[in-house]
Amino acid sequence: MIHSVDISDQTFNCVKCGNCCYNVLREHNTGEYGYNFRGELVLNPKTSLTILYNEKYELKQNLLKFDLQARFYPEMVFFMKDYPYGFEYSYQLGVKKKKYCLFYDLSKRECKVYPVRPIICRTYPLGCNAFEGSNLLPEATCTGVKEMINQVDPYIKEGELVYYPFSQNQMASVFRSEFFLGANIIGFTRWELKIILDNLGSMFLDDKSVTPSRVSDYTLLNFQEFLGWAKVKITDKHQKLTIQLFSQNLELGKQHFAEQLVNLVSKKK
Ligand code: SF4
Ligand code: SF4
Repeated sequence: MIHSVDISDQTFNCVKCGNCCYNVLREHNTGEYGYNFRGELVLNPKTSLTILYNEKYELKQNLLKFDLQARFYPEMVFFMKDYPYGFEYSYQLGVKKKKYCLFYDLSKRECKVYPVRPIICRTYPLGCNAFEGSNLLPEATCTGVKEMINQVDPYIKEGELVYYPFSQNQMASVFRSEFFLGANIIGFTRWELKIILDNLGSMFLDDKSVTPSRVSDYTLLNFQEFLGWAKVKITDKHQKLTIQLFSQNLELGKQHFAEQLVNLVSKKK
């Protein structure tokens, strides 16, 4: 049974339970790699915190200020058709053995890097699948969301399916700061993935060609390295042009992200 839950007159408050920092590792049973989307990308089956390629560098630098480091594992990887190269689009952060985030201080029950935490932590509990739709929806596993649902219907049990019968505008008023940033990020990510898949589609291998045993034959570059490499190595003019266009979008997008983050951080102070 799916329950309709109208929380549109409420305002989300994080109760700081730490649940979203504790249960960050989820495993998908897709073997070493999965082919979950047209076979054009590879997904790491162990998912934790997703870090987009354009926040990785800054996050690494910021962690150094806290005397911390992290391992970033490739999450989405795109492979090229005519070259044994690929590039990484997003990453997963390493997690502790007990599945909680590297930056969670268990004794104090707080984030050690709160001022510079990743974007995904700032937009939680809202999330969406960038490939399937742009609607941002709250995760019912968040304690704050559970409390809101409880106020509407105390008989809904954990794990039961819910849907929210109201618009994204109303969602924005319930989840004020989370929605604002999330909508921008998801808009940019969808736009960028569309550019990759529509314009560069011919460059990528299909799912029949890339198999887990062949993945190790490819050199994987981070996206910035890939752009430099593509400039020199790709001889096809059309492909060069598209890569260049994509790189221009990348610069615009990064600027846009940075502005959104600055606005958000200054609002919260
Ligand atoms: S699970 Fe929800 S309420 Fe708990 S800390 Fe995370 S965002 Fe806040
Ligand atoms: S970075 Fe901080 S806010 Fe994000 S999951 Fe880790 S401990 Fe939680």
